[in-house]
Amino acid sequence: MTVFANRIKKGTRLYSVLKAKCPRCHEGNLFVVSNPWNLKKTLQMPPACMVCKQDFRIEYGFYSGALWTSYPIVVFIDLLILSTIFWFPQYIAAICATMLIVSLLLQPWIMRLGRAIWINIFVRYDPNVPKVDPMKSKSDLPRSAE
Ligand SMILES: [Zn+2]
Repeated sequence: MTVFANRIKKGTRLYSVLKAKCPRCHEGNLFVVSNPWNLKKTLQMPPACMVCKQDFRIEYGFYSGALWTSYPIVVFIDLLILSTIFWFPQYIAAICATMLIVSLLLQPWIMRLGRAIWINIFVRYDPNVPKVDPMKSKSDLPRSAE
């Protein structure tokens, strides 16, 4: 996924979604940790972008809408696995088990992808957004939610 994401141009929504970057400046990280399988911190997001100060919370319960973007991803992956039934109809139990296991294993990544897609629906890329000067004092920067 990373190799594919490296070929995508900055400024496109796909770049922000696949690299989990701020939808406004495409530089700040959308999540506190980069590894989605760090399960204790999978969905932890800073309250605002460290680079452009874009609010990541937007409103209370904003990311409950991300279910609408992550659910189709799960369905798509499961349909891909289920399509193997045309070649191996005798292994229906194994195919169903594979669907379940793959869906569970990919869940942290899918939830993050859903959130990244969701915020990109509402926030657009702005190449001219004022950025926080890294030499400024750290007290101006938004703190990550504990
Ligand atoms: Zn930003």
